[in-house]
Amino acid sequence: MTDYKMLADLLFPNVDKNVDYYENLYPNRDLKEGARVTRFAPSPTGFLHLGNLFTCSVAYKTAKTTDGIFYVRVEDTDQKRKVEGAVEVMLEGLKSYGITADEGVMIDGTQRGDYGPYIQSQRKEIYQTYAKYLVEQGLAYPCFCSAEELEALRAQQENDDIKGYYGKSAKCRDLTFNEIKANIDAGKSWTLRLRSPGDANKKCFFDDMIKGKIEMPENIIDVVLLKTDGIPTYHFAHVIDDHLMHTTHVIRGDEWIASVPLHLQLFRILGFKPVKYAHVAPLMKEENGNKRKLSKRKDPELAVTYYKQEGFPAASVNEYMMTIMNSNFEDWRRANKDADINAFPFNLKKMSVSGALFDLVKLTDVSKNVICQMSADEVFELSYEWAKAFDPQLAKLYEQDKAYATAVLNIDRGNKKPRKDIAKWSDIPDYISYMYDETFEENYELTGNATEELAVNILNLYKDIVDVNDDKDTWFNKIKEICQPVGCTPNVKEYKQNPDAFKGHVGDVSTVIRVALTGRTNTPDLFAITALLGADRVQKRIEKAIKHYEEKK
Ligand code: GLU
Repeated sequence: MTDYKMLADLLFPNVDKNVDYYENLYPNRDLKEGARVTRFAPSPTGFLHLGNLFTCSVAYKTAKTTDGIFYVRVEDTDQKRKVEGAVEVMLEGLKSYGITADEGVMIDGTQRGDYGPYIQSQRKEIYQTYAKYLVEQGLAYPCFCSAEELEALRAQQENDDIKGYYGKSAKCRDLTFNEIKANIDAGKSWTLRLRSPGDANKKCFFDDMIKGKIEMPENIIDVVLLKTDGIPTYHFAHVIDDHLMHTTHVIRGDEWIASVPLHLQLFRILGFKPVKYAHVAPLMKEENGNKRKLSKRKDPELAVTYYKQEGFPAASVNEYMMTIMNSNFEDWRRANKDADINAFPFNLKKMSVSGALFDLVKLTDVSKNVICQMSADEVFELSYEWAKAFDPQLAKLYEQDKAYATAVLNIDRGNKKPRKDIAKWSDIPDYISYMYDETFEENYELTGNATEELAVNILNLYKDIVDVNDDKDTWFNKIKEICQPVGCTPNVKEYKQNPDAFKGHVGDVSTVIRVALTGRTNTPDLFAITALLGADRVQKRIEKAIKHYEEKK
């Protein structure tokens, strides 16, 4: 029988603390009953995809709706994948969606809170202390198998139901103290493996907050806990960190669900109270009638930067994410039109088990609703910020006269039924193009009853009476006044009753004026457009249109 205490000292001669030390160092949190502690635990790859943001929002909401704590822990145990500055990029990304941590790693790289360090590479001593404890208990052992030996094992197990280092195949499981010592003296490198107490015939039960009751076979694999460099694997670090940081709910991607039996086993043998799990299914996309996972390779919309570049406001993305996060959100929104999104009682139990469907078309609709309720000042500020980064031409137009730009964006805003022309800031250049000579595109195509001849007559009359200082009634009366002299009627009903008696109606007259001034047949309020364009531009555009139609006649 190996003396585990001696083995522990042999393996970890430099560990001078024990587990009690850390248990005392990180006491229970002083939070109110029911408060949940959640975390975002990114690997610093620097790429924040929508799935991360989605899962992270779930964790954030879970903490916030219970007056709990949301913290950030950096999981940088895989040094090969580490990218410099990646954490800042990811945290900046979260911040733009309103997610900031109460505790843990902050954007400026500092760490805040009593449960740190919050960067795994700075916690080596802690992991080693717990590893040593497991060795002392006979629950972990060093494994000297080479990469080739492990490869051979994999090949041998190719057709087996259970694959991995376990039972008889676990060559190093029963090495004696002397064998181990000889290997270490010979300078052989080793990993530390769990001596799994699991039984393949027994089941592990747990209740996932999203997926519900789950039953899986117990873990029997002697997984690696510490790699040859003494750095923990995800499994070991997860259990130690979430225990010591007093996480109550681990909210993570459901690719981890198969590892839960192992994680629960680790919680148990370490004497820790297990966390609750909520496994979030990946975001899905519908393609040719099939649902599939959003893919980094095929779907540009998976990158969070996509929304920034296109100019979807964060409020729209958040609003849409909540729509697919909780099935009852849309009903709530209908009943609470003006309420802050944070007032919504988010509930983990109302999440999709199989994966929420992410649909850009729906996001676009949601975003139109969000933007149409913003004030012109807000639209200006946010779109100006966007333009500075992604559309210098728009930024330049804005800078000519910010008050003018804001007034343009204010057209029809605040109406009972506001127009929904803008879904994202990149829609704005086209939307406002005719309000600037630099971007105005002449297009004299007419619709309805308007002919070129009629257009010339209308515009010739209108040119002399249009006054950009008129109030709305006067403006409209003038348009109506033109009708009769050009053979139209100001009364649409009258026209419909007797269409042969007229060349058109007031709608056709307006269309001619609208097309001359904007190059379009459909625009927001023509009165406001006319007033903002100003006398000079209005006259020039009308004259140009007359010239065009004259030539065509
Ligand atoms: N670092 C892990 C990942 O990025 C975190 C999983 C977890 O939240 O526990 O997948």
